[in-house]
Amino acid sequence: MDFQYWHPAVEKMPRDRLESLQLEKLKAEVGYALKTPFYTSRLAAAGIHSADDIKTLDDLRRIPFTTKHDLREGFPWGFLAIPRAEVVRLHASSGTTGMPTTIYFSRDDIKRWSGFVARCIYGTGCTKEDVFQNMITYGLFTGGLGFHAGGEEVGMLVIPSGAGNTFRQFRLMQDFGTTVVHATPSFLLHVEDRMREAGVKREHISLKRAFAGAEPYSEDTRRRIEGLLHIDVYNSYGLSEMNGPGVAFECQCKNGLHVWEDGYIAEIIDPDTLEPVADGETGELVLTVLCREATPILRYRTRDLTGFYTEACPCGRTHRRLRRITGRSDDMLIINGVNIFPSQIEEVIMGIKEVGNNYLIVVEKYGALDRLTVKTEVGPEIFMDDSRPLNALKERIRATLQASISINPKVELHEGGSLPVSEGKAVRVQDTRPRDV
Ligand code: ADP
Ligand code: ZN
Repeated sequence: MDFQYWHPAVEKMPRDRLESLQLEKLKAEVGYALKTPFYTSRLAAAGIHSADDIKTLDDLRRIPFTTKHDLREGFPWGFLAIPRAEVVRLHASSGTTGMPTTIYFSRDDIKRWSGFVARCIYGTGCTKEDVFQNMITYGLFTGGLGFHAGGEEVGMLVIPSGAGNTFRQFRLMQDFGTTVVHATPSFLLHVEDRMREAGVKREHISLKRAFAGAEPYSEDTRRRIEGLLHIDVYNSYGLSEMNGPGVAFECQCKNGLHVWEDGYIAEIIDPDTLEPVADGETGELVLTVLCREATPILRYRTRDLTGFYTEACPCGRTHRRLRRITGRSDDMLIINGVNIFPSQIEEVIMGIKEVGNNYLIVVEKYGALDRLTVKTEVGPEIFMDDSRPLNALKERIRATLQASISINPKVELHEGGSLPVSEGKAVRVQDTRPRDV
């Protein structure tokens, strides 16, 4: 395979040089942090009073963790390290788990961020000949403007189509010969159903690649989208606290996400003991930004669960790879005492080919017990008015789920296109159980 690198010298930098670069940038970042009200007291309590108190990369572990709660407490200006007049933009998280948090950027911060996104895009084989349709929400959400700027940096023709309005998306794709799109995996799953409805055939569009991220999805879902649309799908990971997209991305090997270690320090910790896990084990991802002066954030607990691949990537990049993020530690459902992640359910149902492209997980109280209902759409080859194959499929889904998650779910089948599709991050779980306070 012919690999393509945006910054070959950085992307293939030997580990020892990469680590000295990280140390240098970490010191600078601690210097910025010491200009913010929040970190001035937080770092002083840990005995860190100046950037020179950081002497080796191991000193990172002297820095206390930062949580989403801290960011909310520091709202609106507690994490700002530069004069207000030097801030050129702000972004906010989607607020999936509560009040959104705000991040500020200087002009140079925006430039550095676009550089990382460009590196991700170019590394999948895109060039300035490509036409890029950014089918994701613009606005405060970082996925819109973040990918937009990265795409322009690569020199692609960028169409800021935004999310939703599938029919207009098809029009744009046909009018301008779109070759690459960015969207949530749930939106991409739904594209093929809508294409069929709109009478758009695969040969009418020139799509080759998609970047899919902003929410967890399984390898089966990736394969399904690739099969439906005959394209390559690359996993894109980022979060607003770390700028947004451009933190970790798959290369053409499509096997793990290279985290750009000249821009971020990644650690994996055990969320209970807060100690680092053994190399390759799963735990919570903790990130330190190394490329932003306006809002330094050190050792941020993402709650996202993943681990490192330990072997080198055939592409020759030296930046370590993260495994597909399976969800957040706070996504875990406890159903009649059994712990499960929505991603485990997704993996099972997306592996059954007669299952359609959308699903919903409902958890409710049923008497004293919890009840799990999995609602899925059926594929176009199944007729809703013929009950025998439907019942057989329902039973197959139920039995496969039970074997894999040790919970006996109720399964409901719905016609293709009838379950709700969200424009932004998909809402896959409805948990209606009363909460203990
Ligand atoms: P919020 O935390 O409110 O959702 P963001 O919009 O910043 O705010 O979203 C970042 C989060 O989205 C990540 O922490 C992670 O949970 C999820 N996410 C982003 N990309 C991926 C991906 N490729 N795979 C799994 N989860 C992802
Ligand atoms: Zn690689």
